[in-house]
Amino acid sequence: MSLEVHQFAYNSDNYGQLVHDPASGRTICIDAGDADEAHAAAAKTGWAITDIWITHHHWDHTDGLAQLKQSTGAKVVGPEGITGVDEVLQGGDSFDFEGHGVTVLHTPGHTLDMLNYHIPSAKLLFPGDTLFPMGCGRLFEGDGPMMWSSLQKLLVLPDDTRIYCAHEYTLANAAFALSIDPENTDLQAQSERVQMMRAADAPTSPTSLAMERKTNPFLRPDDPGIRAQLGMPDDTDAAVFTEIRARKDRF
Ligand code: ZN
Ligand code: FE
Repeated sequence: MSLEVHQFAYNSDNYGQLVHDPASGRTICIDAGDADEAHAAAAKTGWAITDIWITHHHWDHTDGLAQLKQSTGAKVVGPEGITGVDEVLQGGDSFDFEGHGVTVLHTPGHTLDMLNYHIPSAKLLFPGDTLFPMGCGRLFEGDGPMMWSSLQKLLVLPDDTRIYCAHEYTLANAAFALSIDPENTDLQAQSERVQMMRAADAPTSPTSLAMERKTNPFLRPDDPGIRAQLGMPDDTDAAVFTEIRARKDRF
């Protein structure tokens, strides 16, 4: 049976998700930045949180963990070094969630501890702060080549993977993407689409890997148009990625 996802907003621009298995009733909360908002989402759906999957240590993903764990009794998995994690996971680990195989991907760059959760049978990816619509995470703890190598782990996933992102940064990401990839007609069209979505206060997450491959400049350092725009026709993908990330930081 398929998994159901309910996305909810918290803080100024965060998204959390509840992932529900109707057969067993088990419900995962992806990250735990705000316990009250997670409880409100659970009340709205009628689902009871039984599991918490943490992506990385940043406060906006963990501040509500102690409270949410205490009030739900949920089992917590996540990276090493986070108070409240019951079972430490590492990249390459896999485990079963009610008949769905879950693969843990280590995608350092934004932080060194970043874990992403992929559920191939449900075509779901929870990338933490590694990947956003038309964007990627800032490099707080890693460098460009490290993040590029992490993003390549996501690029091999199927096109129809639904990617549930952790922040609503999409309008700013689209504006930057157009600045270095102005001739990309897929990007132009998607930029218009997300502007209408945000005007209607609709979330731009989830996105799909197919869409990101076409529109996300951080996944396209091999693109001749972007390379020409940056004046880097012969550099490595890692070097072009690093330059794109640096330009976004200054944008
Ligand atoms: Zn973060
Ligand atoms: Fe975050």
